[in-house]
Amino acid sequence: MRKNIIGIALIVLVFVTALFAVEEAAVEVLEYQGSLMQVSGIWFLNTGTGMFGLELGTLANTEGVAPELAAGDTIKVKGTMLNAVLQVTELCKAEMVYLPIVEEEKTSDYTGYQVNSKKCIGCNLCVKNCPVGAISMQKGKAVIDVTKCIQCGICANGSGKTWKGCPVGAIDKK
Ligand code: SF4
Ligand code: SF4
Repeated sequence: MRKNIIGIALIVLVFVTALFAVEEAAVEVLEYQGSLMQVSGIWFLNTGTGMFGLELGTLANTEGVAPELAAGDTIKVKGTMLNAVLQVTELCKAEMVYLPIVEEEKTSDYTGYQVNSKKCIGCNLCVKNCPVGAISMQKGKAVIDVTKCIQCGICANGSGKTWKGCPVGAIDKK
């Protein structure tokens, strides 16, 4: 009987560990260099060892200029992989860096931590790490309840331990 209980506990432990491993892998920020291709209007990156789609969104450099991209260009990209498509959070071409345009989302005078829903990939990690339970997921995006938030910044900047803050920089103080 006791052996059975220990066996079940071990199985549960392995299962939970595997779940966390999958979650961490899902939010890993990846970096690639390769050659651009375009098929049916969709950009792909050929790294020489593999090929995957790119979700570029709206990118711009510090002067607000969007990248001019053409098939055959060599680029570097950073981002998170979602359903075999890289959600690009940084693109570098000819030493010029392009980042997603962050649109102003403020609808009130509130000045505190807010989630940029365009950047949020719905990984749920900020929900788990908020010390006061101020973040919830709504339609796959994190939302901060400003009435609960104590402005600690842990969701954006990490806790100084293993949690380093939102992996895609979707939370910022306005
Ligand atoms: S805000 Fe960041 S940490 Fe929170 S769910 Fe979105 S991507 Fe994940
Ligand atoms: S700033 Fe702190 S309290 Fe507010 S949502 Fe982020 S982790 Fe939670």
